[in-house]
Amino acid sequence: VRALRTKCDVVVVGGGAVGCFTTLDLALRGVSTILLERRYVCSGTSGRSHGMLHSGARYVTTDERAARECIAENETISKIAPHCVRDLGGLFVSLSEEEESYHESLVSGCLRAGIPARNIDIETLRALEPNISRDARTAVWVPDKVIYARELVTSALTAAVARGARVIEEAEVVKIHTSGGEVVGVSASHPGGPLEISCRAVVNASGPWAGRVASLAGVEVDVVPTAGVMGVAPANLTRHIINRMRPPSDGDIIVPYESGASIVGTTAKLVEDPDNIEVAEEDANILLEEGSALVPALRTPGFSRLYASARPLIRRGGDEWGPRASTRSFEILDHSEEGVSGLFTAAGGKLTTCRLEAEVAAELVSSYIGAPRGGFTDRLALNKLDTDLVPNIREAIKRGDVLGSFAATLSEAMDTIDSERDAHLIRRVLLLSRTRVVSL
Ligand SMILES: Cc1cc2nc3c(=O)[nH]c(=O)nc-3n(C[C@H](O)[C@H](O)[C@H](O)COP(=O)(O)OP(=O)(O)OC[C@H]3O[C@@H](n4cnc5c(N)ncnc54)[C@H](O)[C@@H]3O)c2cc1C
Repeated sequence: VRALRTKCDVVVVGGGAVGCFTTLDLALRGVSTILLERRYVCSGTSGRSHGMLHSGARYVTTDERAARECIAENETISKIAPHCVRDLGGLFVSLSEEEESYHESLVSGCLRAGIPARNIDIETLRALEPNISRDARTAVWVPDKVIYARELVTSALTAAVARGARVIEEAEVVKIHTSGGEVVGVSASHPGGPLEISCRAVVNASGPWAGRVASLAGVEVDVVPTAGVMGVAPANLTRHIINRMRPPSDGDIIVPYESGASIVGTTAKLVEDPDNIEVAEEDANILLEEGSALVPALRTPGFSRLYASARPLIRRGGDEWGPRASTRSFEILDHSEEGVSGLFTAAGGKLTTCRLEAEVAAELVSSYIGAPRGGFTDRLALNKLDTDLVPNIREAIKRGDVLGSFAATLSEAMDTIDSERDAHLIRRVLLLSRTRVVSL
């Protein structure tokens, strides 16, 4: 098998929320970018989250920076991708005297972080949420929302492809090459044969695998994969996202994700290998116990299935470090200090803040390669495919840049009345066709 060789300015490793937004941001700056994903887009943590576009309220007492980032991005994502957001609102509910004593800290923390929060009296709570526990004592409304991650991520990537970005799925980066202390390329395995890509910079956006990918260039990153398990209850249990009124702990959120599916989560356990997360009976028991304390009706359907993923948390400090206390904010690490210029790792963060994390990463890379400064993904409507970009996608299909049955279905979607108005249909096809977008 002959190696496929190509070149670009920047290789992005990882097709999760951070990698896809980084690819879009760089494409908008005119930087030639290839995204490599070892499985398929959104197959990692981004496709297995709890489905919340956080208001930030959950973090106000433990992590104010993360809380501020969440509320800012909650507003930005709602603006640029309204088709991926369900604005249901969230309620924090106290069930005990101890939890009630957290009420004031929660509300004052929200106000400090700029998160709109309103006290809800108990009668109103019962009217809004008939299934809430009889033990409910106090409640606070916050702007938590539901987010559909796969829609968001593929929206960002469709916009990036329309602007010339290339995407290769089933491409696992196995080596990051350097010369004289500078990144010069990557090698990746692919079912069609090995890939050799020359580039000037690499963004490691591989989430909980970031430590492993950084080691391919010989540098260390202290990202600690922290697993979380979630349970799917096949029922409509609540109208709002329900949070237990206490600092973050296990089983304290119920998300009415879509009609007939409520998601209860999560747990937090350090794991060695993000590819091997054990889902134990104990996890299901914790989630059922804690979830039904908030909403007793959960006990009737129980869980139809459980799923899990790993957070890409950053280890900080000494022995007192723990997954719940760890920051939910992000960091972009510039590895030039460890002798590898042109390698940047995006570490930590939330799905809610992926766009911002990507913008900071893209800004650093742009500065390194001399590309234009200043991103504008916060102003790009992802629910519309600009009329002048439709021919780009058509051309890409004609050139054979988009391979597989997806090319045919994409062509058809392009010729509907909605093509220019709404890229949503095209992205749906992308999700359903399960074909890989290959653009070399
Ligand atoms: C249980 C749980 C619940 C969560 N719930 C929420 C929530 O409700 N709201 C919220 O805002 N955040 C939530 N988060 C956090 C959020 O999901 C993550 O922070 C975010 O999805 C991380 O995105 P990412 O792009 O960094 O990583 P990922 O989505 O994991 O993407 C990394 C990608 O890199 C790929 N990759 C790895 N190695 C290689 C390689 N060698 N070559 C090529 N590709 C590679 C992987 O296949 C993967 O697709 C949750 C996290 C967990 C664990």
